[in-house]
Amino acid sequence: MKRIPYGQHFLDEDDIRSVVDVLRHGWLTQGPKVGEFEAAVAARVGAKYAVAVSSGTAALHIACMAGGIGKGDTVATTPNTFVASANCAAYVGATPQFSDIDPETLNLDPEKLARTCADLKQVKAIIPVHFAGMPCNMPVIRKIADRFDSIVIEDAAHALGATYDDGRPVGSCAYSDMTVFSFHPVKIIATAEGGMITTNSRALYQDLLRLRSHGINKGDDPPLHPEHAYTDGALNPWYYEMREIGFNYRITDVQCALGTSQLEKLDRFLTRRRELALRYDSILAEIPHVTPTQRAGRSTSAHHLYVVRIDFEAAGRSRASFMRELIARNIICQVHYIPVHYHPYYRANGHRHDRFPVAEHYYEQALSLPLYYELSDEDQDYVIAQIKGLVA
Ligand SMILES: *Cc1c(COP(=O)(O)O)cnc(C)c1O
Repeated sequence: MKRIPYGQHFLDEDDIRSVVDVLRHGWLTQGPKVGEFEAAVAARVGAKYAVAVSSGTAALHIACMAGGIGKGDTVATTPNTFVASANCAAYVGATPQFSDIDPETLNLDPEKLARTCADLKQVKAIIPVHFAGMPCNMPVIRKIADRFDSIVIEDAAHALGATYDDGRPVGSCAYSDMTVFSFHPVKIIATAEGGMITTNSRALYQDLLRLRSHGINKGDDPPLHPEHAYTDGALNPWYYEMREIGFNYRITDVQCALGTSQLEKLDRFLTRRRELALRYDSILAEIPHVTPTQRAGRSTSAHHLYVVRIDFEAAGRSRASFMRELIARNIICQVHYIPVHYHPYYRANGHRHDRFPVAEHYYEQALSLPLYYELSDEDQDYVIAQIKGLVA
């Protein structure tokens, strides 16, 4: 019997052809496909600039560097996220601080965020995460950021194709300085590994291009050492400058060809994910102890995950036993997320276990059910029937 995972990528013959075409005729890395993919994503989300990198984590890292976050700075984010959203602050020597979530949206609670920022006094950046693909209340978060003179980096790893309440696309940076996407296979579109930063700032764009490739000058950076750069007024053919410390976070042409091909299917992906989410909503609402989440986001979310809350205590079965029973039925669910401050690294760095009651209570009940483009109605019905059987 086939396995039904919580998430899965979808590839068609066009995707495969686009990759094979690069292998036969292309440059492999950093050729024309990178720029094509960047231009396609920038156009789709309505941003001026886009920089593609090797992963969403790399994107978060250099976004923090370009944002000028460093030693002694504090960065505010949500505990209900993948560890990368907080780790990026630690990479640059800053301290991530968490702020509790809203029980309905499961995103940062803006009121609590304002209080967290006031308590912290200095907040260099806010990193909101559009959990499961549902956008945060960005107009309010932007206002809070402005009050504390903070920059805003959206972690939109779940949210390619989502829109704010005003209809503008996530990634347009209408309320942020930079937005970060991931193209890991469980996310909305896949490049195997891959990520991107979008921005409307030319200066940030230039910084990001350099940081992606060792801190070496790119684009139209004028040389800092013109005496080495020019002979008889013309740029020396071998010349480049490393002006700051950067990384090899480059993505390949092979991956970007796949990304561009995947992006063409984004609307199909989003439509099917929404349809499946609405189907889950209507059927699961009838089942005792099971509560769908984020129902208010059905028209704006990218629906990366479908999360239910299950009152395991009332259902008389632990989550571990529940998940094991599902695995025995070939249904592989997951929990998103273990609160970031629960991890030993954060614990060792002074984060206590009992500070974010909403996120902590949510974690006790959370379960992500299978949701992906190719999930059939029949398989979804099978999943629902097994869950019903286990809570009854
Ligand atoms: C997946 C993910 C990332 C990291 O992206 P990678 O491409 O896997 O490095 C960051 N933040 C969130 C919320 C994610 O889900």
